[in-house]
Amino acid sequence: MKFLSLVADGMGDWPLSELGHRTPLEAAVTPVMDELARTGIVGRCATIPKSMPPGSDVANMALLGFDPEKYHTGRGPIEAAAQNLKAGPDDLIWRMNLVTVEDYGPDGIMRDYSAGHIETEKSRPLVERMQEVVGNDTYQFIPGIQYRHLLLQSGGALAPEADLDINPPHDILDKPINKDMQRYSRNPEFWDVLQEAREILVKNGTTRANAVWPWGQGRRLSLPDFEKTFGMKGAVISAVDLIKGLGFASGMEVIDVPGATGLLDTNYEGKVQAALEFLKTGDFVFVHLEGPDECGHGGDADDKREAIERFDSRVVKPLREALADEETAWLICCDHYTPCIERTHTKDPVPFIVNAPGCEASGLDHFTEKTADSTGVRVDDGFELLPYALEHARKK
Ligand SMILES: [Zn+2]
Repeated sequence: MKFLSLVADGMGDWPLSELGHRTPLEAAVTPVMDELARTGIVGRCATIPKSMPPGSDVANMALLGFDPEKYHTGRGPIEAAAQNLKAGPDDLIWRMNLVTVEDYGPDGIMRDYSAGHIETEKSRPLVERMQEVVGNDTYQFIPGIQYRHLLLQSGGALAPEADLDINPPHDILDKPINKDMQRYSRNPEFWDVLQEAREILVKNGTTRANAVWPWGQGRRLSLPDFEKTFGMKGAVISAVDLIKGLGFASGMEVIDVPGATGLLDTNYEGKVQAALEFLKTGDFVFVHLEGPDECGHGGDADDKREAIERFDSRVVKPLREALADEETAWLICCDHYTPCIERTHTKDPVPFIVNAPGCEASGLDHFTEKTADSTGVRVDDGFELLPYALEHARKK
């Protein structure tokens, strides 16, 4: 039995007037997911523990079967794992965005968490320059992808910064940054480092990045081995570092797909081919699509509907067709809602499909938030969803 877990990041949404009071998933034409829903189990799952914020890091850790309340140390450490960064046990690892702010002070406003989706070719040299000019024995700037980078604070897990509650920049779009500025400035040395890094961006002036935004800090990540835990040889396929980090940290194969951008124009065919190639010898593949989430953050309902349709027609459909003659089990879901109205993540329980040979059939004709709710099937903890699906897949 091959097992596929397909995740459309941030797909869940609320009804929108511009879509005739339908959600993007309701408005989208998704015949392949609908067929899987009709012949499978459909329900909702609370992917985010009550005590935790609705981040992709938390939710995807749960979808891989690991309890975030037990293993999650922060967003930064997961992405550091993706880069195989060596950190000491007392080091503090920050996720660092390049952002666009209006005024980096008490009256400042967050304008863009991604600095206009800055390209890696432009962002890397800037972060490398920060390391050259600002980096020292305590602070190390580590370039990543697009607007997503890291800041390693040596011994920082023992410093007061370890407990600083900094807002994720995508949560405060067009909102004041005053509170975060105050928190950063509690340590004058840390504050100076941020100001010097900002100067490099401002001086360069060729991109929309004009500040750094460290958040999601924590000690290095350590997860149980996926294969030992679930008895399946697994792989993850994603454009984003945090999924790769979860894969590396749990000993899974992490497959890089050229042209996987995390946006609407991602290399869908490449991801599908990579998944099929892996399943020739492997048992479990986790394919993650970032597109719907980015559209939700952008507040663009129509793009989001389009991203969901592409997920159905260019990921689910070709996988389904290619594996038509194999025994396969499917888990299709999203990690969390990213409502276009909110432009950030929420904790609503997500709709999911579990489809395996011989499983109960819901008989539903369309896979949506509402129909998923109507079945009354609920999985209360996100990390129980994979075991729940496996149990149904292995029943036969
Ligand atoms: Zn997400």
